[in-house]
Amino acid sequence: MNKKSDQKFIIDGVEIKRGETTRINIDMGSIYDFTDVKMPVEVIRGKEDGPTLFISSTIHGDEINGIEIIRRLLASRALKKIHGTLIIIPIVNIFGFNDRTRYLPDRRDLNRCFPGLKNGSLTSQLAYKFMQEIALKSDFGIDLHTGAFHRFNYPQIRANISDPRTFDLAKSFGAPVIIGSNLRDGSLRESVSQANIPMILFEVGEALRFDEAGIEVGVNGILNVMQEIKMIKFAKPRKLRKEIFIARSSSWVRAPRSGVHIPKQKLGKLVKKGDVLGEISNPFGDHRTLIKAQQSGKIIGISMLPLANKGDALFHIASHDPYIEIPFNGQIIEDLSNNDPVNSRYPKHDF
Ligand SMILES: [Zn+2]
Repeated sequence: MNKKSDQKFIIDGVEIKRGETTRINIDMGSIYDFTDVKMPVEVIRGKEDGPTLFISSTIHGDEINGIEIIRRLLASRALKKIHGTLIIIPIVNIFGFNDRTRYLPDRRDLNRCFPGLKNGSLTSQLAYKFMQEIALKSDFGIDLHTGAFHRFNYPQIRANISDPRTFDLAKSFGAPVIIGSNLRDGSLRESVSQANIPMILFEVGEALRFDEAGIEVGVNGILNVMQEIKMIKFAKPRKLRKEIFIARSSSWVRAPRSGVHIPKQKLGKLVKKGDVLGEISNPFGDHRTLIKAQQSGKIIGISMLPLANKGDALFHIASHDPYIEIPFNGQIIEDLSNNDPVNSRYPKHDF
């Protein structure tokens, strides 16, 4: 049961008592000039017992929307009275964050190195410490991510939806899309699920950018989850999103040739197989190649770079899963036109 924090609660040798809020700087070694590197963690332990939830962000050092989600969450009055314990880690990959890069100085991807090794590579040691000191001491987890460099993600939860507890957590977050994606080797999600701890991953926006609407979805989502697992109680229960697009698979539509990429569809749009998603033009505009959807679904990711090489990933499309009980009430609207004015060619995000 959710009672990990009913006992003595200790992180990195520091005990957090009931009713205490503590900031702990977990030692992560040093950089070349011997300057210490620490991972700051905030632990909020309520007076009342309840579950332990970790919220982590920036496992990929350039994915920063989660940092702002956490900053706003911490200002929320709802956290004044919680049941259980909240462990908040705004920046897991402190090395990559300070370098504005996804990776660590040993060029490894932290999210492929879990559960890590005590005496492994730099990345593996960080993964190990995170697992031992945070993830394994929690009953639930939410990991915050952002789209890759020059790629914008529609707000989406990725979770192992074949596990009912994880699926419930995913639905309660209230993002417009849930992707029942497979567990990736070495990911935090894989290691945490092997330890039987439900964890969901939230993705929104683009690397090295803040996205206002997406940040709001994230803050609300975390509060919704906390309500669901009974860490907080609102006088008026929060309304949850009724329509969630649930997909079991997704795939990228790639550029058929190199050139200037003009998207014709907005993020979040429902498309049918064969619909035109965008076009690749030459710089004069007199040679254009249409990019078509190879399957029906919802656009959950889009390349923000108006240039594409043949084979570059341009549109990420999630396929609707008809076997999940939440109804899909969307509407497919055709608004394609090849001679739209220039200023409407670049779709605005709206969710
Ligand atoms: Zn990421």
